[in-house]
Amino acid sequence: MVGVLEDKDRIFTNLYGLHDWGLEGGLRRGAWNSTRAILSCGPDWIIANIKASGLRGRGGAGFSTGMKWSFMPKEVKERPHYLIVNADESEPGTCKDREIMRHDPHLLIEGCLIASFATRAHACYIYIRGEYVHERERLEAAVRQAYEARLIGKDNVHGWDFDLYVHHGAGAYICGEEMALLESLEGKKGQPRLKPPFPAGAGLYGCPTTVNNVESIAVVGTILRRGADWFSSFGAPNNAGTKLFCISGHVERPCVVEEAMSIPFRTLIDDHAGGIRGGWGNLKAIIPGGASVPLIPAKQCQDLLMDFDSLRKLQSGLGTAAVIVMDKSTDVIRAIARLSYFFKHESCGQCTPCREGTGWMWRVMERMVKGDADPSEIDTLLDVTTQVEGHTICAFGDAAAWPIQGLIRHFRHEIEDRISLYRRSKANYAGHSIAAQ
Ligand code: SF4
Repeated sequence: MVGVLEDKDRIFTNLYGLHDWGLEGGLRRGAWNSTRAILSCGPDWIIANIKASGLRGRGGAGFSTGMKWSFMPKEVKERPHYLIVNADESEPGTCKDREIMRHDPHLLIEGCLIASFATRAHACYIYIRGEYVHERERLEAAVRQAYEARLIGKDNVHGWDFDLYVHHGAGAYICGEEMALLESLEGKKGQPRLKPPFPAGAGLYGCPTTVNNVESIAVVGTILRRGADWFSSFGAPNNAGTKLFCISGHVERPCVVEEAMSIPFRTLIDDHAGGIRGGWGNLKAIIPGGASVPLIPAKQCQDLLMDFDSLRKLQSGLGTAAVIVMDKSTDVIRAIARLSYFFKHESCGQCTPCREGTGWMWRVMERMVKGDADPSEIDTLLDVTTQVEGHTICAFGDAAAWPIQGLIRHFRHEIEDRISLYRRSKANYAGHSIAAQ
């Protein structure tokens, strides 16, 4: 079912903080309802239902959540199992997990218990972004409430010993990469490890570990309460469920909203963000899924469906569903150059193509903004992005390359125009200078 979600089908009913975020409010909204009954069905039942629901990771990669859980060993032998919740929400444009943690933290805590039980973990760490100070305080307060009510902890009412720790990051974007996050949690420098081994085999402290995004975990309790069929009835095949979209940029009302996956882009913007600033004719381009995915031009947005597969067909991606809208006033070259600076700044520096390539790409992009380049450098820049893409330890290299590739794919003419304008004005200036002598 593709279309607009009705209020009764929304999982996050306190997204804007209009109601009590605490335990009483959470209970009223359905959190911790039937949790014991869910656990009594056993880990295999839970994993089978999460698989059947079609839930795909909400942190950007879109891998099946149930499948990921099934990679964990069936029995706990010598090594403990861990669940890690990735709350290091740092992707530019993305602010959905923040709303969950500050307005509906009990859905997340309940999801942590259920996911830990399903993966046979007795401990979970929520790794929260360094800049999220208030969110961490809110989350810690909610965790205290859950302990006091014996919903979690040793000898809790659910019969599965479970400890939950909130760990505060220190502001490095790369710690949102799951292997860097594990390193950081272990007290080391936050630099990605090579895969394999994957976390399910050797994750935190070398033990079997599952790493999931906040939204992926926070929806689990509701899915199991309402049924896998209910969740998979939204969206399109292979793109099921409801999803939080973060809409920012040149719209009338930037917002975070829960909608059905595969909602038409036009409906999403008109119904929730008040439309494009200056009307649809004023739309220039969008970045549909956070800074790491290529932009797409206005002409491809007309019949666009907001899901993993539709956006992949356009050589872009749903990513974190952070939709950044750019109207015709946008200097799109400068906008992408700004992202290049971000990636140069945040590279952990561990591998050469990324460490050197991000700096190189940023410096060329800065010249492209002015037009101070030779037209042949556009292809050289494109070539460098392909040298970085796929040649690094983690996906950060791809993320740095893709926005530039998208820019050249769709707005090469703007770069060429900028270069020829710069050359003309330079020639005119030189002519004036000679004439003045
Ligand atoms: Fe670090 Fe970049 Fe290499 Fe990732 S790709 S490990 S961020 S240097």
